[in-house]
Amino acid sequence: MRSERNVDRLPLPLVGITCSRKWDDAACDDGRSFDYAKREYYRQIEAHGGIPILLPNVDREETLVSFLSRLDGLLLTGGDDIDPSWYNEENRFAKSVIDPKRDRVEILLARQACEHGLPVLGICRGIQLMNVAFGGSLHQDVSLRPGTGSHQVDEPYVYLQHPVNIARDTRMFHLAGTEMAQVNSRHHQILDRIAPGFTASATAADGVVEAIENLDGGRYLLGVQWHPEMAPSDPLSIAVFRDFLSAAAGRKLSGR
Ligand code: MN
Repeated sequence: MRSERNVDRLPLPLVGITCSRKWDDAACDDGRSFDYAKREYYRQIEAHGGIPILLPNVDREETLVSFLSRLDGLLLTGGDDIDPSWYNEENRFAKSVIDPKRDRVEILLARQACEHGLPVLGICRGIQLMNVAFGGSLHQDVSLRPGTGSHQVDEPYVYLQHPVNIARDTRMFHLAGTEMAQVNSRHHQILDRIAPGFTASATAADGVVEAIENLDGGRYLLGVQWHPEMAPSDPLSIAVFRDFLSAAAGRKLSGR
């Protein structure tokens, strides 16, 4: 089957995109739930040379591990709050919407992706998930960290509304080419203790960590609190996706 061989030779990396869930009723049980991801995620993966595929929140761990054996990159997407029990805290924010199943799926995927040497990009909830999965913690709401400003850009959050300082000698600095950039973050939870092995690479004026990375030993784990998928013409947003897709393509070409 010549055509299949040709397809097989294409160096386009396959990138798994994690999904949110919603329910038909307020009970949030599994009776009638739907897995979904905003189109902006898969559009940007596609625009920058990847093949996007949505990963449903399946029950079986073996299936999740099988996803990873076929993927070249993992994108952890935005969404609701992570259960604070993952970082040994009681839930202190009554308005939190928590999906324990999605938490389990994404934490397993993030850890196993790291084990497999798979590049991981975390966006919004994704940076928080990444931080928690590797041993960090969160402030459950901006109100619980004194001196924190608003981190809610206006809908549809395409506007780059707040500046971040970017640390030199980081991948993020390499991507931005400058110590100051404007970003579009929209979140009520923020990173607290940064996971061991990770570097805080971008910080807002109020001290909130806006990007983390761990590129040690061939790893590619990079998280941003803002939404590069919503600002597709912003140079830093483009650089973030290109770098992630380049890492995923490189892993594919290396034959694992
Ligand atoms: Mn922010």
